[in-house]
Amino acid sequence: MSRFWSKATLRCEPYVPGEQLNQPGIIKLNTNENPYPPSPAVVRAIEKEAANSLNLYPSPTADQLKKRIADLHGLKKEQVFVGNGSDEVLAFSFMAFFDQDKTIRFPDISYSFYPVYARLFNIPFETVPLQEDFTIPKEAFFQSQGGVIFPNPNAPTSIYLELDFIEEIAAQNPHQVVIIDEAYIDFASESAVRLVQDYENILVIQTMSKSKSLAGLRVGYALGNEDLISGLTRIKDSFNSYTLDRLAIAGAEAAFQATDYYADMTEKVKITREWTISALNQRGFTVLPSQTNFIFTTHETIPAEELYERLKESGILIRYFNKPRIENYVRITIGTDEEMQQLFHQLDQIIK
Ligand code: PMP
Repeated sequence: MSRFWSKATLRCEPYVPGEQLNQPGIIKLNTNENPYPPSPAVVRAIEKEAANSLNLYPSPTADQLKKRIADLHGLKKEQVFVGNGSDEVLAFSFMAFFDQDKTIRFPDISYSFYPVYARLFNIPFETVPLQEDFTIPKEAFFQSQGGVIFPNPNAPTSIYLELDFIEEIAAQNPHQVVIIDEAYIDFASESAVRLVQDYENILVIQTMSKSKSLAGLRVGYALGNEDLISGLTRIKDSFNSYTLDRLAIAGAEAAFQATDYYADMTEKVKITREWTISALNQRGFTVLPSQTNFIFTTHETIPAEELYERLKESGILIRYFNKPRIENYVRITIGTDEEMQQLFHQLDQIIK
């Protein structure tokens, strides 16, 4: 605390990301990173860019990258916004679409950055309790005053909400923006992108941090109606012309071309997820139905906090949230098959 701090600095409650213990030998299953490397073509593109042009500013519009993303989704370049990780795109979206005198809504159990942005930008919010089974009660999001945001699949629950529900939520909020945070969508059935042509109030936000194995590159993007996208661009251009650096633009472009590589990798993660869930079930865990690269689970006898602590002692990091309703759950990122086998080796010591 300092007498020099502005009101916003005093008011904000910063987000605390999962631990990044960069010790050798640690198995990191706590921040939903991909355990596999990005496509070698991505690394080559970054190296080439680094060798050639770091003395020059990057493109402030990143048009080539936007065009590539647009083509992949059957959209126009003007329907794509790119930013420094989807966290930045989310922050800009709060500024661009939510007001200080209208209450927005998001689920009570959800991505914990949303209340952080709301406090920072002074946007009033109410949280909607998830149902007993941790699904989203769609009616509770109808007729919001200031707008709606939720992840699909939700985090940390990993549960996917069907698109007809999302469509209804958009139809029931005709004058507000409905933001669908699709950080994990490539591990799920279908993106809401196909709704953006019909609903001018739907903004879909995706990231390259999970399914593209590029958490370290920091690239996220938004897809939506042209007017929403130009709103985001106004905010970005009032903040920093070059939010994406040259290396990020080059790497992201290469990643979007390596479609076969990423399709195989995503499939591998999904296969590991499925056997991990059965192996957990066999050991007395209940696992919520996951459409993400992580699972959310509770054990019949061992308290979640103890599981987290004991795994940490043995060099395996998972995520524990000490919050009402989920204090007996842990979130486990899907790692490689070998990492998951090591997890089970340790779990068998703890459970026995
Ligand atoms: N949304 C959700 C739901 C997430 O879990 C994450 C990852 N912490 C993000 C957005 C942000 O991802 P990134 O900034 O790496 O794109």
